[in-house]
Amino acid sequence: MTDAGRRPKYCPICGQENGCGIGEPRETCWCTHAYFPKGIFAKVPPDQLRKSCICKECLEKFVEENRADTDTHSPL
Ligand SMILES: [Zn+2]
Ligand SMILES: [Zn+2]
Repeated sequence: MTDAGRRPKYCPICGQENGCGIGEPRETCWCTHAYFPKGIFAKVPPDQLRKSCICKECLEKFVEENRADTDTHSPL
């Protein structure tokens, strides 16, 4: 009967399990230490924002895609 207080464990972008804070107390999820580019939230349905975590795969994929985009112009 505690389901109402639980955070969804599924990524709002791909629908896979997001591995968010499984078996851990609140605040100890990998995502609390991860950097989420602002643009990634545009992929999340507004009603899911801040409710379910984006999974690592989607984050990495997004970062990679955007890095590839910006790297073309950034001199090393
Ligand atoms: Zn995902
Ligand atoms: Zn999380």
